[in-house]
Amino acid sequence: MMTRIAVLLALTLGLAAQAMASPVSPSFNVLIYHHVDTGTPPSTSVTPAQFREHLEYFRDNGFNVVPIDQAVDAVLGRNNATLPEKALVITFDDAYRSVYTEAFPLLKEFDMPATAFINTEPMDAGRSLWMTWDQAREMHEWGIVIANHTTDHENLMNYYDEDEQAWVDAVAENIRTAQRRIEEEIGEAPPYFAYPYGEYTEAIADMIREEGYIGFAQHSGGVYSGSDFRGVPRFSADGIYASLNTLPTKLASKPMPVDYDTVPEMLTTDRQPSMTIRVRDMSDMTQNLNCFVNSEWTDAEWVSSDTFRLAAQEPLRDGRNRFNCTSRSRTGNFFYWYSQPWVVVSE
Ligand SMILES: [Zn+2]
Repeated sequence: MMTRIAVLLALTLGLAAQAMASPVSPSFNVLIYHHVDTGTPPSTSVTPAQFREHLEYFRDNGFNVVPIDQAVDAVLGRNNATLPEKALVITFDDAYRSVYTEAFPLLKEFDMPATAFINTEPMDAGRSLWMTWDQAREMHEWGIVIANHTTDHENLMNYYDEDEQAWVDAVAENIRTAQRRIEEEIGEAPPYFAYPYGEYTEAIADMIREEGYIGFAQHSGGVYSGSDFRGVPRFSADGIYASLNTLPTKLASKPMPVDYDTVPEMLTTDRQPSMTIRVRDMSDMTQNLNCFVNSEWTDAEWVSSDTFRLAAQEPLRDGRNRFNCTSRSRTGNFFYWYSQPWVVVSE
């Protein structure tokens, strides 16, 4: 009898510990791929053999590749959706043909869902490096989600106009055109949008939300209920990031539960930007942060029990830079992950 009570007690405590271990539950990580090919630019490619190794790794290590709808609905508390632990969403950007010829057969073999964020203009023009609409339809019929990555893959910063509203309107028109083409060709166009190069302004992000989209960015990190759904993070899984020496740590990470009201805009004219980030729930993480400014290890300072500050110690280069901070879970074998992208422009 005592034994049974002891077991019940252990189970109850175990469950309590597990619940406490996940202040961000449910959460998921998103992976970005581009080409799945041997002859394409290495920085945006995995080989078909590497892609197979990734899918085998997910399958053999308890990861659950789930449809994008299920993942988004679960963290937003919609449609009674739930998520397993170690949930992953696979995405491909740019509609390259190798997604159809190389990745699609492997996704079918492993029975894993995915989303392809496509550019409609190269497909409309029938360019040989891109998939055809027939191929996109065939993937969609199997269950691949076909979603919006603009018509032409122009960096949204290039729509620069001193009149900010004119800038936002031009971008919105591009995205509406792409959405209409997807609807015409595929029959449905889901409310997901991936920013070319992962770069945007606050005004563009607000427009994305007003137009009803969940935005997908290109800085690293996971997604939970407190995320900024105008631009959720994704982990790059191709090029130098494809290695199974480094990718598993990211796959196993959970989003640091930061308060996105304290997160700065990525576009900055400040050469030495800083961020002061509040963590909403410190119960499962320590103040032992591992932070990097680009690839330089940099000390972060705790300004209160739940708020840390990280500043560039030297001027950043023009264009894309990043701050990255992780903290080990107190109770699980994983890191909480937060990444801040910066796009530095001259005044
Ligand atoms: Zn792209």
